[in-house]
Amino acid sequence: MAFGIYVHVPYCLQLCPYCDFTKYEWGPGAKQILAPEKYTELVKQEIRQRAEGIRAKDVATIYFGGGTPSLLEPSLILSLIDEVANAGFKLRGPEISIEIDPATIDEARLDQLLAGGVTRFSVGAQSFNDRLLKIAGRKHTSKDTVELLNILKRKGVNYSFDLLFALPSQTLSELNEDVARAIDYGPSHISAYNLTVPEGHKLDAGRAPEGEQIEMFDLIETKLGAAGIHRYEISNFAKPGFESRHNSLYWQDQPYWGVGLSSHSFLTPDALPEADAAQAPYGVRFWNRRAMKEYEKEMTVGAKHPWSFVTNLPEGQKEILQEHQAMTDFLHTSLRPLKGLDENALRLKFSEASSARAIKRLDELVTYGWATRDSLGWALTREGRLLANQAFEKLTFLQGELS
Ligand code: SF4
Repeated sequence: MAFGIYVHVPYCLQLCPYCDFTKYEWGPGAKQILAPEKYTELVKQEIRQRAEGIRAKDVATIYFGGGTPSLLEPSLILSLIDEVANAGFKLRGPEISIEIDPATIDEARLDQLLAGGVTRFSVGAQSFNDRLLKIAGRKHTSKDTVELLNILKRKGVNYSFDLLFALPSQTLSELNEDVARAIDYGPSHISAYNLTVPEGHKLDAGRAPEGEQIEMFDLIETKLGAAGIHRYEISNFAKPGFESRHNSLYWQDQPYWGVGLSSHSFLTPDALPEADAAQAPYGVRFWNRRAMKEYEKEMTVGAKHPWSFVTNLPEGQKEILQEHQAMTDFLHTSLRPLKGLDENALRLKFSEASSARAIKRLDELVTYGWATRDSLGWALTREGRLLANQAFEKLTFLQGELS
């Protein structure tokens, strides 16, 4: 088992119109929200008070996401890593990642984070095109990004580049230029996200038609592949050995604990104390509140002891997984990586009858041309990846459909 911790930092330079994450705008209005020092203190309380609800003590990854964690003073970020260690977790050469926004970080702050154990940076660059950055509502400019990438390159730091595409009015040749420039800076990892907004959203107008968006997907894969940065998951590309260890936990049915405002967690039975594992044979999902006031209240009241995520959390904040939910999660997440879903892992986790039902549906995907099957299991084809949401719908089990 590999276990990871996600820390949510809910402050942003701007509130991007396409983003659903829980965040608060940083700046003059920041006075109305909780000061970062106080927020960090609450997260530390959460770690201290609830660590005993987790049996897994070896931490493989810590991921600071948001929001924009690079808005926080590095000393606050590092104090959270210390708190994890103080709460009894063992950090054995973990991957420690932090999301950074180009307009919020300089060399001195990078050095502090590196010296404190951060091993990987995820740069929210999105594009080098200032017109498109403006359309996306971003405050940073391509000049900020170039300055940051030059520093990262000079230092030989391991980093990932976030690329946002299919923005309103963006052309194939503009995307081509973004990809080429990103490659020039030598990132070890690139996450490429097709802008996702609901129909009627102001950013939905003027986007490339579907056929051209597919060409955009292909362009990204071809260019990155030629540069040795290979697709290993629907939206993620890496040089060999530089795949995100933290995100891989999500796709490999591994447990993770999300701390901070609105964070989500998934603990498998082997990551839970034995008494909890007996009550949650398929594990438990739980989540923190989205409103700062409520989160603050919950963390200030404190935790019962011994703390149990299975019994102490209120009903609206947890889901003790039943077999059909665990199967749905397993199928959806395991098919995201290109190497696909391992038949042995499926059979090990679920009963023979339930595995057989899942296998029937997986084989149906093969008949549609959305998946391939070999001696190890199933993997999505190019078409299956493009139609992933439809493929996952077919792999969704409702209550009563298993056993
Ligand atoms: S900076 Fe990132 S987290 Fe913040 S609003 Fe924009 S997209 Fe969302």
